[in-house]
Amino acid sequence: MTFGLTPEQEALREKARDLAERVVAPRAAEVDRTESYPWDNVQALTDAGFMGMTVPKAYGGPGRSYMDVTLVIEEMAAQCGVTGRVVVEGNMGAISAVMQYGTEPQKKRAAEFVLSGDKPAICITEPDAGSAATEMTTRADKRGNTYVLNGKKHWITGGGVSRLHLIFARVFDESGAEQGIGGFLAFRGEDDGLVIGAREPTMGLRGIPETEVLFQDLALPADRLVMPPSGLKRGFADLMNAYNAQRVGAGTVALGLAEGAYRRALAFSKEREQFGRPIAEFQGLQWMLADMSVQLEAARALIWRAASTAGQNGNPFPDSLAAAQSKIFASEMAIKVASDALQVHGARGYSRNWPMERILRDARMFTIGGGTAQILRTVVASRLLDRKLPQTRDGHAKLAAADALRIQAAE
Ligand SMILES: Cc1cc2nc3c(=O)[nH]c(=O)nc-3n(C[C@H](O)[C@H](O)[C@H](O)COP(=O)(O)OP(=O)(O)OC[C@H]3O[C@@H](n4cnc5c(N)ncnc54)[C@H](O)[C@@H]3O)c2cc1C
Repeated sequence: MTFGLTPEQEALREKARDLAERVVAPRAAEVDRTESYPWDNVQALTDAGFMGMTVPKAYGGPGRSYMDVTLVIEEMAAQCGVTGRVVVEGNMGAISAVMQYGTEPQKKRAAEFVLSGDKPAICITEPDAGSAATEMTTRADKRGNTYVLNGKKHWITGGGVSRLHLIFARVFDESGAEQGIGGFLAFRGEDDGLVIGAREPTMGLRGIPETEVLFQDLALPADRLVMPPSGLKRGFADLMNAYNAQRVGAGTVALGLAEGAYRRALAFSKEREQFGRPIAEFQGLQWMLADMSVQLEAARALIWRAASTAGQNGNPFPDSLAAAQSKIFASEMAIKVASDALQVHGARGYSRNWPMERILRDARMFTIGGGTAQILRTVVASRLLDRKLPQTRDGHAKLAAADALRIQAAE
């Protein structure tokens, strides 16, 4: 059943599935084993028009919706999680923020990069500022017509392969006064002072490097600042609003991985025979497969809904509540479904000669990167309760004191 898809979207999904099965699938194990960025797949994605799909027509792209992108991501991730992630970052995240908030020259430049196959890197996380991202210490000091950036990020996806970087930093004016958090565009290979540090050896998704990125007196022209619409004081909120698109994308990779695991388990259960009959005839496995399909359909519905909220209520990006709900569900579902699909394969599921263990390793990431499942629950609760939920001790104490005053005044 394909409820909600237009004939054009059906055709897009078919095109993506064909490319994923024909070109991406045969290389997936090799990408994982050699831990190498899949440049061939990226070229195939670029040729097929799957990089820069969300870039508006005025900047050379097809101006497709986030919903359309999820259809492509899911098909790629069903064969190769790494390739699914390339589609996410080639269409969502940094590129979304620039195309929405950037100046004309910034948009033109960023569009050229992704349309020619560059997967931008988004640089937020620091060693001492993970979930508490606003505690970042990377700084951008205004010096005449330049900003000088200093600091260190880590776990930057695509470090050393991405050219375009969107760097989150605290901005200081010439007098040293803090202005807020802004995003800066920098280009690897062009901007001295953008240094790629150590690569993190990861459990899964091994074909994309996760690295440190250091800024060592990185001098950027002032026009590289991507000015958030509400100004720098609320800059972080605006930038994170754009990030909701990437969150939906990350959830979609998890969905695709789980879908790939399920398809394989279903096929295997019909082929493998024990006790003289296909294992699909055993009710214990039938119920596992049934549960997998229910979980997948529920995750897909949440993701399609979240992607479809973009553009509603004056917000060009997916709604934060819908995005968080979909990523929580899809990421946790993917771990369970990938693990159950491995179980259906018996010992073969545990073998590195089969894809199931790779899928499970890949799926394990999505409750962590792009906002952990715990932090996203706080995002959801905050929207449900319609109040800020500060996580620092003093922020929480201030809120509690303000509540106490309100209650006192009401009595
Ligand atoms: C594969 C991968 C790719 C990534 N790519 C990027 C990237 O491209 N760019 C980028 O900027 N970052 C990236 N990240 C970083 C990612 O966003 C962070 O890992 C994430 O935000 C969590 O930060 P942390 O790892 O420092 O965990 P911590 O914040 O130290 O959290 C540790 C644990 O404590 C929990 N916790 C923390 N605070 C709370 C709270 N208030 N309430 C409840 N629980 C809490 C967390 O949920 C977690 O379980 C990536 C991470 C991974 C794994």
